[in-house]
Amino acid sequence: MSFETLGLRAELLRAVADQGYDAPTPIQQKSIPAILDGRDVLASAQTGTGKTAGFTLPLLQELSPETPGPRKSVLRALILTPTRELAAQVAESVETYGRYLPLRSAVVYGGVKIGPQISTLRRGVDILIATPGRLLDHLGQKTVDLSQVEILVLDEADRMLDMGFIHDIRKVIRHIPEQRQTLLFSATFSRDIRALAQDLLYEPEEIEVAARNTAAETVRHIVHPVDRDRKRELLSFMIGSKNWQQVLVFTRTKHGANRLAEHLEKDGLRSAAIHGNKSQGARTRALSAFKEGKVRVLVATDIASRGLDIDQLPHVVNYELPNVPEDYVHRIGRTGRAGNDGEAVSLVCVDEFPLLKDIERLLKRDIPKDVIPGYEPDLSVKPEPIQKKQRRSSRGRSSHSSSAQKARGSSGHRTPKPVIRG
Ligand code: AMP
Repeated sequence: MSFETLGLRAELLRAVADQGYDAPTPIQQKSIPAILDGRDVLASAQTGTGKTAGFTLPLLQELSPETPGPRKSVLRALILTPTRELAAQVAESVETYGRYLPLRSAVVYGGVKIGPQISTLRRGVDILIATPGRLLDHLGQKTVDLSQVEILVLDEADRMLDMGFIHDIRKVIRHIPEQRQTLLFSATFSRDIRALAQDLLYEPEEIEVAARNTAAETVRHIVHPVDRDRKRELLSFMIGSKNWQQVLVFTRTKHGANRLAEHLEKDGLRSAAIHGNKSQGARTRALSAFKEGKVRVLVATDIASRGLDIDQLPHVVNYELPNVPEDYVHRIGRTGRAGNDGEAVSLVCVDEFPLLKDIERLLKRDIPKDVIPGYEPDLSVKPEPIQKKQRRSSRGRSSHSSSAQKARGSSGHRTPKPVIRG
């Protein structure tokens, strides 16, 4: 199948050709015709499947003016995302695929000044990409008008629910006409997602594609058992001895990310950390330096990494396993993207064996274990409980500020799981 057969207009085909895409991915083959047909869509698709183009291309087509000539931009499409990074990346895709069309887009998220966003919105946009908290701030200040929105996209809806955005989403939706097309994308279909879809979607076309990182294997998973206090040494050794030039490393905490990046620097490996406590500018700079190859190791927490679009990342390392098994799948979604091979390496100490079991249960298979000579774990070491920070209750949140704060990533907690005791 080719993009031409999907019925996309010439401007979009040209933009797609610029990107060097040969053929639509499975999700694009299914979502593009359904969306162009005006159907609501409920799609299960992870990052790395090409889902962004899957909704952006038909959305741009639907909004394209029939005739050339001067026109006024009216906000007709709204895309909600859980994090500012994902918002920025979706906005970049909208710009990229829409470059030959006379449509205007803007992105709004928290953690940056609201003034410039207000000016942009005042000039008029056709497409708005937003995180829920900041969008509510704009609605509160009446600096955005959603009354003409025809297409609503909820991207990574499961993560928005995990981050406690459900009330914010519902508040936002009250400002949008009921007569609209709604597209909901989610990596997982929990009961909550089903309930939300039931409320928001009308006879949706359900689209499911094999999760790239679980079923269709382009990623090689491997676990290296190692002692808790030798992980850093092993990581430096692996990066050096295997001559990895671009590695994304995950830690569980912001503090852990900072500390690890500092340690790696001391070991002579150019490193940067990104997490919710860093300013947007610092995060963007670190990501660009990493993409350009100026920084060899990018250390990230789960929230900060969400939606990172780094092409053809060959190595992802779980320096610490995530507390939530689904995060493992999200993390390794950064490697082996769009058909490229990748390697997902996990350094696992005795404390993390229960977490590893949960992940293997989710993946429905065992991950191969490989002890690196010289780093054999001491089997007599007793497991220690993994410290989890206290989660602030999301109940009783009445103002927008706490959700805006969440959009800024300053409290990246999600559904509490029982604390794991070794
Ligand atoms: P996404 O799942 O939307 O985050 O996209 C994952 C990656 O796949 C991005 O780097 C896209 O640029 C790339 N991509 C999207 N569509 C295609 C396609 N049809 N062929 C090749 N790569 C694609």
